[in-house]
Amino acid sequence: MTNAPALASQSDARLDWPSLFATRSTRMKASEIRELLKLLDKPEVISFAGGIPDPALFPTEAFREGLNQALTGPAAGQALQYSVSEGYLPLREWLVERMKSLGVPCGVDNIIVTSGSQQALDYLGKLFLSPSDTALVTWPSYMGALSAFNAYEPEYDRLAPFSNREPGDYAKMAAEKGGVVKFAYMSADFANPSGETLSQAARERVLDLAEELDIAVIEDAAYQSLRYDGEEVATLLSLDIARCGSIEAARTIYCGSFSKTLAPGLRVGWVCASSKVISKLVLMKQASDLHSATLNQISINHVARSVFDVQIEKIVSVYRSRRDRMLQALEAHMPEGVTWTRPDGGMFVWVTLPEGMDGAELLAASLKHENVAFVPGKAFFADCSGANTLRLSFSCANESQIDEGVGRLGRAVRLVQGH
Ligand code: PMP
Repeated sequence: MTNAPALASQSDARLDWPSLFATRSTRMKASEIRELLKLLDKPEVISFAGGIPDPALFPTEAFREGLNQALTGPAAGQALQYSVSEGYLPLREWLVERMKSLGVPCGVDNIIVTSGSQQALDYLGKLFLSPSDTALVTWPSYMGALSAFNAYEPEYDRLAPFSNREPGDYAKMAAEKGGVVKFAYMSADFANPSGETLSQAARERVLDLAEELDIAVIEDAAYQSLRYDGEEVATLLSLDIARCGSIEAARTIYCGSFSKTLAPGLRVGWVCASSKVISKLVLMKQASDLHSATLNQISINHVARSVFDVQIEKIVSVYRSRRDRMLQALEAHMPEGVTWTRPDGGMFVWVTLPEGMDGAELLAASLKHENVAFVPGKAFFADCSGANTLRLSFSCANESQIDEGVGRLGRAVRLVQGH
């Protein structure tokens, strides 16, 4: 016998929850990637869907050492205790040196540690966007950024550095939508999802536009360390500082992450920007989660200081081979009319299908008939265009899976084309 109440069914709900939710909640939708990832447990599926690091490449031994050290002796008290919202000071000091090596002279007051760069995107949306303000974003853009910003009920306009739109056109369109332009958001290196890297000239154009509109620039640098070919292009923040003289005068806000280099599970990222922006973010962090997990920050600090460069070398060499293999396989297996990007780094190849074909329809067919998964491109477009695009990630499949999976995808394309 038990006194526990019977499990309620959905029809027992007394409250009309949606009528109580704030209007901003209507813009919060399940991410297509997350929903999809739930379907990928079947061992026969070859997945090019998740943009996640290969767990076999995590620096596990260095983390074990870091955690041991953090939990040994008097340091344990600190590792398990509440901490400051700005972040663990030795880690911020390491980040200052890292940012200097990227051409960004700065101090610890220019750095806040966040719980992944995703939290930084949420905070920046919260800090800048009043409902109906406009965010300039690329078409396509990282869908997690769009989800983070959506909660603040913005409008979007297309950021295209080489379009011939005048700055005044952006301002006029934003005013028509009931707000003003607040920032331009972009991933300048090996973007998620396009894989593309902006040339220095394009970065200068973005900064010109931002100056003319007098808005902030959010530089999402999640993949920046993963370069496989070619010369590094200066960060937007360093180009901005070269124009204005110091980080305190810069309009660019740089969002970094350890997720793609060391490990995403610890949720450690950072923002580097003018101290005026950082001090606001510190207040937001106090109000939202007080600080990022101290133990995680201490262990990331240990691992970054002991193996960062070696780790980058290791993952770059593995991911470079996988990228090469994916490009070769696409060449071998894709029917005519399908095109794709050739990324210099990162984790993604962006595929464009012939006009009229639909990425979501292709996904359904390739899961059903070929057991291969990817992400249809539409969700990455703020205007819901891009139906004939898709994102392939090469980070988590080994080379024979890449050959096999792209072969199957080619068959699925032909199958859908044949209909
Ligand atoms: N920006 C981009 C472009 C990403 O692809 C991701 C993760 N997929 C993030 C930010 C967020 O990463 P994290 O919160 O793990 O740092």
